[in-house]
Amino acid sequence: MMDVRENVPLAPLTTFKIGGPARYFVDVHNEEEMKAALAWARERGTRCVVLAGKSNILVPDEGLNALVISIASETFSFAGTELAADAGCNLLSLIRAAGEKSLGGWEKLAGIPGTIGGAVRGNAGAFGPEIKDFVTKVCAFDADTGEMREFENVACNFSYRHSFFKDDPKWIITRVYIELTRAEPVASARETENTITERERRHIQNVQAAGSYFMNPVASEEARNMFEEEKGVRSREGRVPAGWLIEKAGMKGARVGDAVASEQHPNYLKNDSHATAVQVKELARKIKDAVKAKFGIELQEEAVIL
Ligand SMILES: Cc1cc2nc3c(=O)[nH]c(=O)nc-3n(C[C@H](O)[C@H](O)[C@H](O)COP(=O)(O)OP(=O)(O)OC[C@H]3O[C@@H](n4cnc5c(N)ncnc54)[C@H](O)[C@@H]3O)c2cc1C
Repeated sequence: MMDVRENVPLAPLTTFKIGGPARYFVDVHNEEEMKAALAWARERGTRCVVLAGKSNILVPDEGLNALVISIASETFSFAGTELAADAGCNLLSLIRAAGEKSLGGWEKLAGIPGTIGGAVRGNAGAFGPEIKDFVTKVCAFDADTGEMREFENVACNFSYRHSFFKDDPKWIITRVYIELTRAEPVASARETENTITERERRHIQNVQAAGSYFMNPVASEEARNMFEEEKGVRSREGRVPAGWLIEKAGMKGARVGDAVASEQHPNYLKNDSHATAVQVKELARKIKDAVKAKFGIELQEEAVIL
């Protein structure tokens, strides 16, 4: 029996702590429950919204008139140097569990909130590595036809904060296979904790936000040169950090109500206490306008605006 709940407040479940309730809400722990949830919505002509760790989303103030299917599958296992994990597994918990099994290599991803499925969908990354560097295979489920398919790494079409699954959201990731390297458990745990400490130092941890709100855009040669000269580092793939553009456009610390472009990391649009989704979107619009006016660059949202 599916436990579909009604009028479930979403704000407390999100890292942004913003948004109204879900008209219907269900946790799914496996493929059967996923299929049952999709069928339940189809029978009632209700829209479905799939969520997982809820760390990269902005929920509207009026809530979602939909069935929110929350991926809560949490089984994982190791075979040799391979990890097989359900999409709903928390990424940091997996990194820690792998370390205890003498497997590592991906500790720089520690502290990215959310699930491994969410990480694959957006090719999450930090300090250089991205999840694509470790994924061998992904199992996904076509919400329209029920077809289950395996995608090798290359078929996932990964690039900066992008994957095949982001382009085609009817595919729901159910399981992820990760190839790791042998690691000494104490050293792995130390690197994991050091990474989190560094994230705290940079004010990108435990913030009421959705992480980087905008993607780092490909910039003009002029903007790249300006960035490289000032920071003394090379831009990656022709991209410059959105946070730097926001600061140069004079929008660091900009505020609409309780929505603020963080002083320490301006690409984090923070909920300072009681921000609304409308305020966040208005702040984002002002930032986009300012960056466009100064650099001619159109910022694109990385966070999913529901
Ligand atoms: C404080 C903070 C710091 C962050 N730092 C980083 C960082 O360093 N690097 C980085 O890359 N990101 C970062 N993020 C953003 C976020 O943590 C990542 O994007 C994360 O991978 C999202 O996973 P999630 O499970 O929370 O996805 P959710 O927020 O639940 O969902 C996001 C999107 O993914 C889709 N989705 C989720 N699960 C699945 C699935 N199984 N199949 C198909 N689609 C799915 C949803 O439909 C939705 O469209 C940060 C966020 C916060 C709040």
